[in-house]
Amino acid sequence: MEEEVKSLNFIEHIIEEDLSQGYSQEELRFRFPPEPNGYLHIGHASSICLNFGLGLKYNAPVNLRFDDTNPAKEEKEYVEAIKRDVEWLGYRWDSERYASDYFQQLYDWAVELIKMGKAYVDSQTSEEIAEQKGTPTEPGEESPYRSRSVEENLRLFEGMKNGEFEEGAHVLRAKIDMKSSNMLMRDPIMYRVLHKAHHRTNTDWCIYPMYDWTHGESDYIEQVSHSLCTLEFLPHRELYDWFLDQLVSEKKLRPKQREFARRNLSHTVVSKRKLLQLVESGVVSGWDDPRMPTISGLRRRGYTPESIRNFADTIGIAKRDNVVDVSLLEFHVREHLNKIAPRVMGVLNPLKVVITNYEEGKEEWLDAENNPEDDSAGNRKVPFSRELYIEQEDFREEANRKFFRLKLGGEVRLKNGYIIKAESCTKDEDGNVTEVQCTYDPKSKSGSGTEESLRKVKGTLHWVSIPHAIEAEVRLYDRLFTDATPDGYKDKDFMEFVNPASLNKVTGYLEPSLKNAKIGDRFQFQRLGYFNVDLDSTDEKMVFNRTVTLRDTWAKIEQKN
Ligand code: ATP
Ligand code: MG
Repeated sequence: MEEEVKSLNFIEHIIEEDLSQGYSQEELRFRFPPEPNGYLHIGHASSICLNFGLGLKYNAPVNLRFDDTNPAKEEKEYVEAIKRDVEWLGYRWDSERYASDYFQQLYDWAVELIKMGKAYVDSQTSEEIAEQKGTPTEPGEESPYRSRSVEENLRLFEGMKNGEFEEGAHVLRAKIDMKSSNMLMRDPIMYRVLHKAHHRTNTDWCIYPMYDWTHGESDYIEQVSHSLCTLEFLPHRELYDWFLDQLVSEKKLRPKQREFARRNLSHTVVSKRKLLQLVESGVVSGWDDPRMPTISGLRRRGYTPESIRNFADTIGIAKRDNVVDVSLLEFHVREHLNKIAPRVMGVLNPLKVVITNYEEGKEEWLDAENNPEDDSAGNRKVPFSRELYIEQEDFREEANRKFFRLKLGGEVRLKNGYIIKAESCTKDEDGNVTEVQCTYDPKSKSGSGTEESLRKVKGTLHWVSIPHAIEAEVRLYDRLFTDATPDGYKDKDFMEFVNPASLNKVTGYLEPSLKNAKIGDRFQFQRLGYFNVDLDSTDEKMVFNRTVTLRDTWAKIEQKN
């Protein structure tokens, strides 16, 4: 058998190159560095799969590092959610770290920089500093405080740390080059005063380090060999390197920042800030609303970790930002659930069928296969009786020959059961069919081996026995946004594209075996899609989510528009 050889992605090429030029495999170390200011989304899954995937591939440790330098936006709840999601995706970190663990070390290094004349306290307002920044084509202006003495800088910086100043009174800036063609090198801010309690360090600090000063130094402390981030950090690399240049000792490994493209998903937004807006405005019920592109939303919706990992693997990593169609994500969950989800029957839009030649009060428990894709899944029993539900859409009084479902005078097979024939129907005042009277062929029972049981009829319908059915709330979802790139317009806010019909709650009538289903359990409702038990389920009332339909109906709808 031929083994599938996967070609290396460009990050793996960089690593292979480094290995061939003196790095040893033991030196490799990676990290996934979320800011705990929201829940992880499907974009993060790409970064998680990349970093942890490299860890597995090179047998190298991967740290989970919380980039927690902004107490105004960060919370413990988010830390817990992030840990849960990474674990659920199937990855184990080597060590759980926090940038806040390094606040003292970072402060000490900042003092070193001041002593070297490479950092200074600026006492201008943020507006003044912004005005002096210049433009990409015009150089910036030097701050009047740039030439402060080392002593004064040390005294002021210590004062900042000790809480002697109001927010905004001073900042610490690196003294680099106000004429640099890279705007980020124009004396970037390293520290600002923030009188806010931090979720871990509480009120120990009232100055907080900025991202650029924190990230590379944290990588250095943890001896991360390859610090992989998204493309918007490409211009930051020069600054990342400049800070390291001031600190790195020859005996230690020098981390490398390398960039890959952000992954965006169509018909949604992948930005914690925007997702928070959806939560706070009440458009969704929370971060784990099954319509959300968050890992927790996808989990609640019924996605499997495997399907998300396979999706991330398939799209791989890229050097240019792009939008991946959500139907590819749906393809992967469909593919996985097809293999693992037991088949059951339920009716969402019921039409009553009475089998007039079936004895009243009689019931039979028919054999039904749980999963034709999985021999080990076994069988179950489904009850059959005189009164059944089928879907409204599966019956028409009259229809042409291409309609393989039930019509007057026509026959269909009831899945796992008998062949029935529609004899007549009853209608209400408005002409809607309210009941169909059928006869059944008692010898046609599926699997009974009789000649009649092998008789082929064109259509097979799913159904439930009315007296045995359990009623449940079934939540059907559509895209959360009506546009493929809701945040892709300059003149329009993404909130304008929220789909008002993204959630449809219906009552479903389900076969009684589902009574034992537990929260999270996944099923294929035959002909309707994949569903799971939502965490809103109680003993009194079960709630199901439709994870995904059996086929991609959306592509067709969009083509018509
Ligand atoms: P957001 O804008 O949603 O807050 P972020 O990049 O600020 O995203 P972080 O918590 O800082 O979020 O991200 C942790 C890691 O995940 C970073 O390395 C970041 O580059 C990566 N990441 C975030 N979003 C995506 C995405 N859409 N595709 C790929 N990687 C991503
Ligand atoms: Mg961020």
